[in-house]
Amino acid sequence: MDTIQIKDKLFTISIGREEIQKEVKRVADEINRDLEGQNPLFLSVLNGSFMFTADLMKYITIPCEVSFVKLASYQGVSSTGTIKEVIGINEDLTNRTVVIVEDIVDTGLTMQRLLETLGTRNPKEIRIATLLLKPDKLKVELDIKYIAMKIPNDFIVGYGLDYDGFGRNYPDIYTVVP
Ligand code: 5GP
Repeated sequence: MDTIQIKDKLFTISIGREEIQKEVKRVADEINRDLEGQNPLFLSVLNGSFMFTADLMKYITIPCEVSFVKLASYQGVSSTGTIKEVIGINEDLTNRTVVIVEDIVDTGLTMQRLLETLGTRNPKEIRIATLLLKPDKLKVELDIKYIAMKIPNDFIVGYGLDYDGFGRNYPDIYTVVP
């Protein structure tokens, strides 16, 4: 399928499954090499990163744990308007090497919030692994150790990412047709 329709928008394929798998495996190889002997805890950020996490973990060969967190958005009294609360951290992060597994870093504000929250739990180190990065949209300084692919600013769906809840199931990545 080269084009898909989701609700009112048309999307065209931009990154095929073979390329995605190749880059996911490259990231896994880097993690296997860098974190050997550290028993990392992978924290996957739901919902968007479920497919990336599943594929990434199949290529991880070092001893590790995997867990899942969610960000609940709610309107609150803050300068940015929306406050995001991290829910579902059940593990003790003290002295652990934590790898955040995220689908996409856009402005970076979500990641910054995650780092702030996880940082209060005394981890040894937090590393970021993201499937996608939009470098031109980044608003905050982030040290992202593992990036599978860099993409332009356009809105994308597929491989876990949604448009209004739909489109997460596609094994390829699609870009919106303007
Ligand atoms: P940030 O806080 O970095 O601006 O936004 C990160 C979140 O925005 C991602 O976790 C994702 O949910 C959403 N997002 C950003 N860009 C896209 C995109 O192109 N497509 C989809 N489906 N979600 C996006």
